This record gives sequence, C-alpha cells and structure tokens, in this order.
Amino acid sequence: MKTLFKTLLPLTMVALACGAQAADFPIKDKTITIIVPFAAGGPTDRVARDLAEAMRKPLGGATIVVDNAAGAGGSIGANKTAKAPADGYTLLLHHIAMATMPTLVRNIPFKVESDFEYLGMVNDVPMTVIGKPALPANNYKEFTAWIAQNKGKINLGNAGVGSASHLCGLLFQTALKTDMTPVPYKGTAPAMTDLIGGQIDLMCDQTTNTTSQIEGKKVKAYAVTTAKRLTTPALKDLPTLQESGLKDFEVTIWHGLYAPKGTPADVQKKINDALKAALKDPEFIKKQEGLGAVVVSDKRIEPAEHKKFVAAEIAKWSPIIKAAGVYAD
Ligand code: ASP
Repeated sequence: MKTLFKTLLPLTMVALACGAQAADFPIKDKTITIIVPFAAGGPTDRVARDLAEAMRKPLGGATIVVDNAAGAGGSIGANKTAKAPADGYTLLLHHIAMATMPTLVRNIPFKVESDFEYLGMVNDVPMTVIGKPALPANNYKEFTAWIAQNKGKINLGNAGVGSASHLCGLLFQTALKTDMTPVPYKGTAPAMTDLIGGQIDLMCDQTTNTTSQIEGKKVKAYAVTTAKRLTTPALKDLPTLQESGLKDFEVTIWHGLYAPKGTPADVQKKINDALKAALKDPEFIKKQEGLGAVVVSDKRIEPAEHKKFVAAEIAKWSPIIKAAGVYAD
C-alpha cells in the first residue's frame, strides 16, 4: 500500500500540475518566449516581434519576448525549441527551412515532423534578388551581364546552410549555371549591413528585410522570386525571375508557429486562438503588407493544415534540392 502510494503520489502531482498549467495558461507574470532562429533585426525576427505584439492582448496581456537563438541556418533555434519544456512558454517562429532543412542539411539534430506541435501558419513572404549599391548594373539584363563578366569573383551572403537565402541563392546559381562564393551569417540582418557596406556582392532575401532598403536606395534590386509581380509600391516595378528568363523559378517563404512536442492540447488551442486573433489584427496586417508579406487567411491557420502544408512543402522541395545537388552537413 505504502509503495503504491509512493508510486501514485508523484504521478498525481504531475497530472495536477499539468491540468492547472493548461487551465491557467498563460500564468500572469510568466513570460512566453518566441525563439527566432536568426539574428535580431532580420526578416524572421521582424515577423516574430510584430506577432508577439499582436498576440499579447489575446493572451490576456502576457509578456511575450523574442529570443534570437541564431546560427546554423536556423537549426540551432529549432533544436533549442524541440528540447525546451513542453508547457506553452517556449514557442518557435520558423520559416520554409522547416521544409527544406530535412533535405538540405544531412545531420539536423531534431525531427521536423515529430518533435514539434504545429500551431498554425503566419504569412507568406516573397524574396528579392538584391546587390550592393556600387554594382554597375541598373536592371536585370545588365545584372546578368555583370554576373557573366565576373564569374568566379562574386560572393553571395546568406543566413547559413539551410536558410531561405541559402536555398534561394543556390537555386539562382543553378538556374544561371554559375558558381558564387557563399558568405554565411547568423541571419540576413548582419548580411544586409555588409551588403550595404559593399563587403558582399549579392543576396536573396525576404521583402520583410529588403523593402525599406530598396525604397531608401541603399541596395540595388533586380527581381522578385514570385511567379507574379508584387503590388507593394517600392517593389511593383521589379520583374519576376520567370519573366526575366528563369522559367519555373519560384520561391515564396512562409512562417509558422511551433511548440515543443507534448505541449498540452488545451494550451496549444489557446495559442492557436491568439494566433488567429493576431492574424486578423488590422495593425499586424498593415505592417506585414507594407513589407510585401501576405498574412495567412486560409485553412493553414489550423494546426492540422499547417502540418499538412509543411509535409507537402517537404515533398515539393526535396526533389528540387536533390536535382540541384545542393546539400550540406
Ligand atoms: N532571411 C533569413 C534567411 O535567409 C533569415 C533571417 O535572418 O531572418 O533565412
């Protein structure tokens, strides 16, 4: 009897603790952390900070902070989340790398499909091909001529192996049948600083990071990676890579929200409800649209659809990455 009591008591306490946690989530004064797997000031960071602001009210005024666990193309932050306590107080905002990393990077220390709870998707974001301000090329045609003249001398910034900028840069080089020297950073915020300063030549990055720099003429912009031209005022005159001759070239980045596997279902529901409210927040929508992003308003806001979408993206990108022969360890 005594032994049974000893065995049952801790289990009961754990169950009570979990129940209380779910019902009270989020506990007043307990901070919710959104892990961003890239450097502060970059595009993923920007989405996370705007989202944290928009989710605060629907989560009862909770304090939501961003933790930039940057490096290794976004896998350090994802791994940190996968190993964090599954209590709803640690979340991850990640992008398309959740779907491309499993193929692009041979040894990732977590499983995209089984180590996370999927909480819903946030937005879709186009990318732009941009160059340092001193580049002589003033349009896409001159840009490709400059690339041809400078074969072997061009370097290309990215946010590390497996990142969106890495993927986009690789696909661009494959499409042009040229090789550039990759320069990895912990995110495209520091890469942007170096691009503006002329330390690197080119970059392919989300409009959430490039729009204001293009508008301010701090960088040269040559094309967008979407199938259609964009409507954002600063970007509407940029040609698509498809219309510029790179048939089928299309990359759109998307962001989703995740929690460690095992986060209680009712806590997940509260977070998903807060996410849904944030995605309808006019202020959040306005900020995102101003940067060329499209806030998700379709079924991918539902966790099951988010998971289905990521699985479809893994299936879509895997053969493309394999065919391009681009891997990293
Ligand atoms: N834009 C980056 C990427 O290439 C990530 C970032 O800094 O947010 O994936």
